Amino acid sequence: MKFTKSQEVRKFANALIGIFQEKLGHVGEGNIAYLFTEEQIVEAGKVKAGYACIPQVQNRQRKFYEWAVEKAIGYSPDALIVIDKEIWGMLTDVQKAALVYHELRHLKHSTTGAGKPKYNSETGNPIYQIEGHDVEEFNDVIEHFGAWEGGLVNMKGLLDAEPDKEKVEAVLKAVGK
Ligand SMILES: [Zn+2]
Repeated sequence: MKFTKSQEVRKFANALIGIFQEKLGHVGEGNIAYLFTEEQIVEAGKVKAGYACIPQVQNRQRKFYEWAVEKAIGYSPDALIVIDKEIWGMLTDVQKAALVYHELRHLKHSTTGAGKPKYNSETGNPIYQIEGHDVEEFNDVIEHFGAWEGGLVNMKGLLDAEPDKEKVEAVLKAVGK
């Protein structure tokens, strides 16, 4: 078995959605599947702890794929969050919360050209799209040039500031840690 459903990841996600409503509330309106994988996740040559995706394929394979996903998971999720089971086992609770928050943040509520949020006409659930990271950079660019653009300057400020300990504590409490 390469993928298994994870109640623990779901628990973290539900706690995070409840406590970080402003950023994650729209994720709570959808049907998200939380899976562990036993296979290493590699993206653009880098090993990753997890990823978020929208379970959809185009054209002729669509019907078969939707059927296969429903068979495998038991329902048709609006989005998938997949976590490397081995890496998960090595993380602290705070790291687990940060990882799940990170993956949930990739799920953006799609909007129409006029800026109205889109919903699935059959289920009434939000339609998601994948949102990219605020900052993507190589260590050696920062080593040579420092915080050379606005996104990095902003992130440097955040790294120097205190993290939101109260909310993180509340998440850990909600998952029983
Ligand atoms: Zn990411």
